[in-house]
Amino acid sequence: MKLNKDNYFSLEANRHYMSVSQFKDFAPPFGGCEARAMAKLRGEYEEPEKTAFLEGKYVHAWNEGTLPEFKAENPDLYSSQGKTAGQLKSNFKHCNTMIEVLESDPLVMKALAGEKEVIMTGELFGIPWKVMLDSYQPEVGLFADLKALKEIDGKWWNKEAQVYENFLEHYGYIVQMAVYAEVERLKSGREQWLIPHMVVVTKQDPPDHEVMYFDFDDIERALNIIRNHIERVKEVKAGLAESVRCEKCEYCRLTKKITRIKHSSEFALY
Ligand SMILES: [Zn+2]
Repeated sequence: MKLNKDNYFSLEANRHYMSVSQFKDFAPPFGGCEARAMAKLRGEYEEPEKTAFLEGKYVHAWNEGTLPEFKAENPDLYSSQGKTAGQLKSNFKHCNTMIEVLESDPLVMKALAGEKEVIMTGELFGIPWKVMLDSYQPEVGLFADLKALKEIDGKWWNKEAQVYENFLEHYGYIVQMAVYAEVERLKSGREQWLIPHMVVVTKQDPPDHEVMYFDFDDIERALNIIRNHIERVKEVKAGLAESVRCEKCEYCRLTKKITRIKHSSEFALY
């Protein structure tokens, strides 16, 4: 299956290819739920679109240079009632502030230069993967991903590993960068990985921003994490193993039927 911008996010593309978000959608350590992931692939369940998602798309459209088209195609960005009718909703006005912060920092613009929204595919762990690089500069030796986040600080308790995680670990961003680096390496035929960069801008007022890079150790560690989980994901996706419900996510709550009565200790926090 040949991918382009119109079919990249399609059900057909998701059935054929693995992606980082699909991998995370399957893998419990990343908040994944096999039952939900499979329901999505069957076309039975669609995650409700969150405002935060649209804000991210807004900032990405700026990076791609397609913000005017994006605004024209999304009337939801504009307020339809009251004195502010016809104006951008306040959260999208704030996206403009975030964009101004990025535009006025030369190091950010350097990291985000190059070819935009580059689609690549490659075989990893015995299955085809798809990736989309926000900014691609092979001649400089790097690619960059752009993230619009609530904040950079914050810690999340990882129950499985019994440790606190930062936003990079919690959201699986290192895993994402590692897959992108590996797919790009295979595609280019180069021996070495490009250096993955991430440009982060926060939704805080005023926004914070940061540029970070990941080294080869990060990439190797993250590829190992995927290696530890991918066989199970492959089995479930291929229908060779039955999907397990997490009983926590929106999909599981929506389709929940109690099958047994639990002991109080099952609700322990640690
Ligand atoms: Zn679930």
